Amino acid sequence: MHCTRDRDLMIQIEDKRRCCGCEACRQACPKECIRLEHDAEGFGYPVVDQERCIECHRCEQVCPFMKQDEPREPRAVYAACATNEELRGASSSGGLFTLLAEEMIGRGGVVFGARFDETWSVCHDYTETLEGLAPFRGSKYLQSRIGDSYRQAEHFLREGRPVLFSGTPCQIKGLTYYLGHNYDNLATVDVVCHGVPSPMVWQRYLTTTLRAQPDEVAGITFRDKSVSGWRRYDFVAQMATSTGGGSVRQFYGDNIYMQGFLHDLYLRPSCHACMAKGGRSQSDLTLGDYWGVERTCPDLERALDGDRGTSVVLVHSERGATLLAGAACRYQATNYASALTGNPSIEQSAKEPPQRQTFFERIDEEPLSSLIARLTATPWHKRLWRRLHHRAHLIKMRARRLL
Ligand SMILES: Cc1cc2nc3c(=O)[nH]c(=O)nc-3n(C[C@H](O)[C@H](O)[C@H](O)COP(=O)(O)OP(=O)(O)OC[C@H]3O[C@@H](n4cnc5c(N)ncnc54)[C@H](O)[C@@H]3O)c2cc1C
Ligand code: SF4
Ligand code: SF4
Ligand code: SF4
Repeated sequence: MHCTRDRDLMIQIEDKRRCCGCEACRQACPKECIRLEHDAEGFGYPVVDQERCIECHRCEQVCPFMKQDEPREPRAVYAACATNEELRGASSSGGLFTLLAEEMIGRGGVVFGARFDETWSVCHDYTETLEGLAPFRGSKYLQSRIGDSYRQAEHFLREGRPVLFSGTPCQIKGLTYYLGHNYDNLATVDVVCHGVPSPMVWQRYLTTTLRAQPDEVAGITFRDKSVSGWRRYDFVAQMATSTGGGSVRQFYGDNIYMQGFLHDLYLRPSCHACMAKGGRSQSDLTLGDYWGVERTCPDLERALDGDRGTSVVLVHSERGATLLAGAACRYQATNYASALTGNPSIEQSAKEPPQRQTFFERIDEEPLSSLIARLTATPWHKRLWRRLHHRAHLIKMRARRLL
């Protein structure tokens, strides 16, 4: 149990690996007496105002960590991508999220997803329009604040509106427990999830490494495919015209924030012991990158001009299958084993590296970029090989475009 009972009832986080920060407890509390406090690593945890608590147990009932869910194998697996190449290029994988969301908006529905806020942190929000989907498009590699989105979704569901809720598996599991009721008008989509980095580390990266205040940034794309393609994507920060414009573009292997993320230096502790992966979130569909699609579906890969992005789509329910059937995509049925081979994050949690502790102990002592570089150190010959390989890749991409 991650929470003990003080005065017999309140949630208290003893083991940080057993709180994903979904805020289901805070949103469910009838007395509004739970607030989120951020720890030194920059992750939020619930704290109860014991004076105002009426000991109703609601916070415990909705917490997704209070019950163990069995893993589920998907009932169908597809390699798929949007037929609209522009949309495919603007999305992190094959653009399936937007297709599903468009389908929902077309039915008069409401779509929830993660967008940047005015400080370039990430929060959950909803839209009822096609134009409103753009901010949700693309992966943002830091934890999204869920805010009051479970309450808002419940409100729309009770009105009878169709709702599509997207997020990480633990956010979907939190929603499911919060609602505690199987609404026919709700569809949920989660992403294959490696883990979520600390929003505090991301803000530090922006202000100290990129040396940009929030109002000096005009756009962030964690996975830009336009120059290097889907597999060897770039991190891009677009600067505001008021500060001279221009942009920072870096191959993800050279971007220090992405390197720290991919070496698991600053993931949320719960991501090292995830309780929502492997179909345990109760989502209708799971979307990810179909790594290894060139081996599993070589014909599809050739037909699709592969380096623009292909999604793996795991179908968990009839509702998911119906939603997918309405999406304008090209697809091929495959099998779960092949999807897992290229993408162990579907089931496995990232192991906590020993350097994680050092990272947070030293974060106030050393410049962020040199700290990450030191803790993710790759020998010089590997770095050189990686650079040469990337150069060769760029030349190949340019030649392909000229043909
Ligand atoms: C933190 C994170 C880790 C991931 N790790 C993996 C992985 O290890 N392997 C893999 O195959 N795929 C991973 N993905 C998923 C992948 O990057 C794509 O998001 C997914 O394949 C959907 O792509 P798309 O082209 O269909 O749509 P896109 O338009 O690219 O995806 C948008 C969707 O992602 C959601 N989203 C974006 N950022 C966040 C966030 N911070 N928190 C919650 N939801 C968010 C949006 O709400 C929307 O539903 C990860 C995504 C995130 C956000
Ligand atoms: S027991 Fe009830 S009142 Fe007390 S914190 Fe939990 S939800 Fe709120
Ligand atoms: S409901 Fe969510 S935020 Fe609250 S204790 Fe449980 S996991 Fe943590
Ligand atoms: S790895 Fe698990 S706990 Fe971490 S964000 Fe993803 S779903 Fe949530």
